[in-house]
Amino acid sequence: MGAKETGRHRVVVVGGGFAGLNVTRGLARADVDVTLVDRANHHLFQPLLYQVATGILPPGLIAPALRAVVKREKNTRVLLAEVQDLDLDRQVVGARAPDGRLVELPYDTLVVAAGATHSYFGKDQLAEYAPGMKTIEDARYLRDGILAKFEMAEIATDPTERAEWLTFVVVGAGPTGVELVGQIAELAHTVLPRDYRSADTRQARIILLEGAGAVLPPFAPKLQAYTQRRLEEMGVEVRLNTLAVDMDHESITVQGPGGRETIRTRTRIWAAGVQASPLARALAEAAGVETDRAGRVPVGPDCTVPGHPEVFAIGDMASLDKLPGVAQPAIQEGKYVARVVKDRLAGRQTPPFRYFDKGTMATIGYRSAVADAFGVKVTGFLAYAMWVFIHVLYLVGWGNRFGTLYTWVRALWLSHNRGNRIIAFQGAQQEVAGGEAPAARPPTILPRTAPRAAPDAEEAIPGAPREAGGAG
Ligand SMILES: Cc1cc2nc3c(=O)[nH]c(=O)nc-3n(C[C@H](O)[C@H](O)[C@H](O)COP(=O)(O)OP(=O)(O)OC[C@H]3O[C@@H](n4cnc5c(N)ncnc54)[C@H](O)[C@@H]3O)c2cc1C
Repeated sequence: MGAKETGRHRVVVVGGGFAGLNVTRGLARADVDVTLVDRANHHLFQPLLYQVATGILPPGLIAPALRAVVKREKNTRVLLAEVQDLDLDRQVVGARAPDGRLVELPYDTLVVAAGATHSYFGKDQLAEYAPGMKTIEDARYLRDGILAKFEMAEIATDPTERAEWLTFVVVGAGPTGVELVGQIAELAHTVLPRDYRSADTRQARIILLEGAGAVLPPFAPKLQAYTQRRLEEMGVEVRLNTLAVDMDHESITVQGPGGRETIRTRTRIWAAGVQASPLARALAEAAGVETDRAGRVPVGPDCTVPGHPEVFAIGDMASLDKLPGVAQPAIQEGKYVARVVKDRLAGRQTPPFRYFDKGTMATIGYRSAVADAFGVKVTGFLAYAMWVFIHVLYLVGWGNRFGTLYTWVRALWLSHNRGNRIIAFQGAQQEVAGGEAPAARPPTILPRTAPRAAPDAEEAIPGAPREAGGAG
């Protein structure tokens, strides 16, 4: 479609996440034509989504335009389209453009790297009450929702109602859940108290629910214990062995060691499960193989789909050697696939994929994190410094790296403010309309009280990304 016919080997890459982007990078100097097709126009650095959701970082710093990211890869073109069909017999990818037209992309090599999505464990209706966080839109929606609840707490005059607006429940204590509650706690207990006059945001309840017996289930017990202790010091209620069994727009019902309880809350966030992109199932069906329990396509040691040496599946949507759905396997598989393609064109054999485990880490809040790297378990400020270094290193683009560092120093160290707290009236209306319709409430009167502290000036949003470079 519209591409110059060069007669070169055609590589179609579906998805410009960690996996797909590392394929295009690895092929930058190869004698091939690469088409990178993604339904978003940006490469998203998902590990920092929670910072967008809590007003620390502006979206642009973690989501540079794909076109800018690959601008030096002259053999790569980028298409904004949603892939819907994978015809392995005809070797054609079918995608929908934003105006609905069908775009057909013929390939010699296909790499499918469409990532993962939320899993509500078969209860998809819960998405209406407990949104998850996978895309930049999700993070912005959560940020608007969280901030709108503080606004409503300021307006509410009934203490019971105000308490509901100030109760935040996060379901799932994996790294995302821990990072979210940590930042919501910092917002409520440290950043916002100076800014509100009627609502005392320090009264906010932040509750973390986890079905297992510890937070950060895959981490070492020492790191789990440290994380729970730090969260509790930050004012988070950690509830272990507790399942969310029901919810609506104004409450969540949980089943825990103490029995069943309904918690009144206007904010529920889902951080409990992921499953492979629906494209994994489509690819598995086209190839005649079964997906695993997480909906991932099984691939061989060279990351190809069984029976189709010309088709690779990598990253979160592929199942290989029980590797976890995190960034490093996706990055390393992307680099590996680029190498296989180049070796094949040169008539060389490539050894099977080997994963190099660089460890895991999670941040808890201001100056505290946990890290497990090469068998060494680190907590506290050292782990936090490691976390900062790694995350800045893996961000795409020097402009984004400097912009992020600048924003962190300013927001987290100097001012203890959050510079990205813009919500519009209509947005706030939508966010809070999930509960009782505003029209049904008795009129609220803003109480006249003396300010508790002088407000800080709102911070400026730092510069937008200038360039894009390399995620390692
Ligand atoms: C909130 C959050 C926090 C995380 N934190 C960490 C962390 O701290 N450390 C860590 O290692 N990992 C973390 N992860 C996991 C990590 O981000 C993923 O493992 C990694 O992004 C997987 O890379 P990928 O390329 O397989 O998929 P993705 O990065 O998800 O990329 C998939 C791409 O495919 C595109 N796509 C999907 N479907 C289609 C379609 N039909 N048509 C066209 N394009 C499509 C998407 O738009 C996207 O750009 C986190 C994930 C989340 C959601």
